[in-house]
Amino acid sequence: MLSAFTISQAHEALKSKKCSSEELVRACIGRVEAVDGTLNALVFKNFDAAVAKAKEVDKDGRFDLPLRGIPFLTKDVYCEEGVPTTACSNVLRHKEYRPPFDSTTIRRLKAQGAISIGKTNTDEFTMGASTETSCYGVTRNPWDTSRVAGGSSGGSAAGVAADECIFALGTDTGGSIRQPAGFCGVAGLRTTYGRTSRYGVMSMASSLDTIGPICKSIEDLAIVLQAIAGKDPLDGTTSAVPVPDYRAALTGDVKGLRIGLPKEYFIDGMNAEVEGAVRTAATVLEHLGATVTDISLPHTKYATPTYYILCPSEVSSNMARYDGVRYGHTVEKPKNLLDYYQRVRSEGFGPEVKRRIMIGTYALSAGYADAYYRQAQKVRTLIKRDFDEAFQEVDIILSPVSPTPAFTVGAHTDDPVAMYLEDVFLDGQVMAGIPALSVPCGFSKENLPIGLQIMGRQWDEGTILRAAYAYEQATEWHTRKPALG
Ligand code: GLN
Repeated sequence: MLSAFTISQAHEALKSKKCSSEELVRACIGRVEAVDGTLNALVFKNFDAAVAKAKEVDKDGRFDLPLRGIPFLTKDVYCEEGVPTTACSNVLRHKEYRPPFDSTTIRRLKAQGAISIGKTNTDEFTMGASTETSCYGVTRNPWDTSRVAGGSSGGSAAGVAADECIFALGTDTGGSIRQPAGFCGVAGLRTTYGRTSRYGVMSMASSLDTIGPICKSIEDLAIVLQAIAGKDPLDGTTSAVPVPDYRAALTGDVKGLRIGLPKEYFIDGMNAEVEGAVRTAATVLEHLGATVTDISLPHTKYATPTYYILCPSEVSSNMARYDGVRYGHTVEKPKNLLDYYQRVRSEGFGPEVKRRIMIGTYALSAGYADAYYRQAQKVRTLIKRDFDEAFQEVDIILSPVSPTPAFTVGAHTDDPVAMYLEDVFLDGQVMAGIPALSVPCGFSKENLPIGLQIMGRQWDEGTILRAAYAYEQATEWHTRKPALG
């Protein structure tokens, strides 16, 4: 099945004329038609344009760049010229917002000849850990369709795991690339804050949002990162720190690499299979020549509470622009301006977005900003310091991605705090602005994937990719495919 290719396999096949880009694109389309009725990973299909583009690429015949002719899917928060971009929210879906421009990342991928085939499902404005808050309904996990694919980039992770595309783009504010990648048994990379451009990606929490790839292999993560990383004049928070050659970092050699296992990430009551898989992964790396030591990140327990102050605060500000005046949902016959805003926003936003606007407005309000928002900013600094100190002793840090494998659809619907706790291992890195990735490291007895998280120093995606690649080459978890369709 051509759509099961990794980027590097597809590139080899294209270069040696074993297949054409059109065949590759049509294989992905065929796969979407076969399985997406069950999974609901895609919310917009751009197939005609994709086939036309593939024909152009084939006619040109040059397959010099690794992404030329390769089909990909994009989370529905990335603006793409002429393509509906709704953040899976009724506030933008009703009048089907079609942006007049490409986000920087999509522009960079298209400049390399990659072919956009559609948009993927997400929690509304990326708020959630299960893709259940989407106005298009839940995305199902390809390994067990009674379970969630994770979130918020659940559509992208399920799409990659089910071979509906060769790779996909996600966003990670508080785990939304790593957790769905972990739940679906694929690889996902949260980049250093500022490494990749947020220009043209709908903001959730601007000081925490990052964009990155979800792929079938670690090498593929390196390939996509190479194409999208680096300073963007259109995003003032991107950095001019040089972008290294990420593929060159994939040496397979981890001799002397110092690994830390933080005791705060192995908590009482955590799933034994998850803990076992992660500890075994550390042993695998040790056998390859790395050293493993126990470390402490003492402020870890504050990461998720801090995140759920800062994130909603920024959400409450970012959501203000959806007022129904310039674009998006509108209402008829308003009594006055206030009535217009109230009805647009009451009808347009779902419950989780409203909850965060209210929490954030409260945390930022005059009487409470010192007690909540400013306090949380201080704690954020303490969490960052924990990592700064740890990275003096070790080069990478390992942990589980999530406390359990994928949960069943509806398990947390009535309990927002239980949903927030899904991020318990994923918010510290966000507070520190460091890169982290998720790589498959085992399966539960119920045949559900388990993810290993590898964290690194700021700007040092190269080292976590190197460690993940060595681990991946030594294990076979990434080669397993869900039995679907
Ligand atoms: N689960 C987290 C939240 O709901 C992560 C979201 C994200 O990374 N976009 O905020």
